[in-house]
Amino acid sequence: MARKHENWSRSTLAAQALHLIDEATGAVVPGIEPASTFARGPDYEPMGGFNYARYANPTTQATEKVLAALDGGADALAFNAGMAAVVSLFETVRAGQHIAAPQIMYHGGQDWLRRLSETRGIALTLFDQTREGALEEALRPGETAILWIETPVNPTWDVIDIERAAKAAHDAGAILGVDSTVAPPCTTRSLELGADIVFHSATKYLGGHSDLTAGALICAEANALWDEIKQVRKLTGGILSPFDAWLLLRGMRTLFIRFERASDNAMAIARALADHPRVAQVLYPGLESHPGHEIAKKQMRGGFGGMMSILVEGDAAAARRVATATKLFIPATSLGGVESLIEHRKSVEGPHSIVPPNLLRLSVGIEDVRDLIADLEQALEAI
Ligand SMILES: *Cc1c(COP(=O)(O)O)cnc(C)c1O
Repeated sequence: MARKHENWSRSTLAAQALHLIDEATGAVVPGIEPASTFARGPDYEPMGGFNYARYANPTTQATEKVLAALDGGADALAFNAGMAAVVSLFETVRAGQHIAAPQIMYHGGQDWLRRLSETRGIALTLFDQTREGALEEALRPGETAILWIETPVNPTWDVIDIERAAKAAHDAGAILGVDSTVAPPCTTRSLELGADIVFHSATKYLGGHSDLTAGALICAEANALWDEIKQVRKLTGGILSPFDAWLLLRGMRTLFIRFERASDNAMAIARALADHPRVAQVLYPGLESHPGHEIAKKQMRGGFGGMMSILVEGDAAAARRVATATKLFIPATSLGGVESLIEHRKSVEGPHSIVPPNLLRLSVGIEDVRDLIADLEQALEAI
């Protein structure tokens, strides 16, 4: 059933998964349609508009409608991992074209861009996202196909001004793609700030329960580039499966409330650790002392999120000792779930990592914040 009230707020749309009530049964939750193939009618046309599940299927399509609505986009595509979405987007870049991206960003995405530049004749510039003007200098008018940004930048949480990046990209004839995994649409709506395509690893906040891997692309305009991305997904089989699409649809219903709680918890932890003798620095865009705080306030309207890093007093070994001394924070990678995680980032990022060796990344969940703070305080005793 289509959305009845255009004026509902995004949190209402999320809570009711667009009010997609099944007209045949009255079910208030969409069902799972696992069919791999779809029958044709007497005129040999597909009976329900579907052909084959790798192209599109009803459950994944329902999830995509919610994704498009939350980000205010013209269309959305769901993928079986965030990286499948990233790869499908960059598959549209031709030899001789150029890509610009921040020097600190999600390492898997950067590994893929490096691979393109080494094997496909595509030029790549990795700019210093902390230096004023570096983003603009990285662009090559007429040559740059995609300016790719991530904000806040993982795992230092530098903030990039989306509106300004969009203007720079468009002036150079490029599109702006934003990895908004850490700032989901309950806080940042990149398309409204001028981005052409927004990406989420839906494995993280959108799913929210660490029980699926998924990716999403949402476009401002369903143009020729978008058709090409759709074609790439169709041909490579990157579509999200009906079961995982259904889990994602369920997860998104509580997105706003989970994100709000995680943001409150992270802010309390940031304040509690800011003056801790064994913590050299807390990196969190919600702190007034953070260099990106003013821009974050402007483009993260629904909270600064649950992602932060702490630089401990000491070296990589000291940081790893803290990460293994927590009892509540789980030492594991990933982010955006209801449970809190801690990670020594340098150990997982591989040879290109320029992340400080004493950095611990926290993905703050929705537990009682007093338990979380007590756990970090006892773990810091390990230094
Ligand atoms: C996890 C992550 C990705 C990759 O997504 P997967 O779902 O793991 O494939 C990309 N960008 C960011 C910021 C991420 O955290």
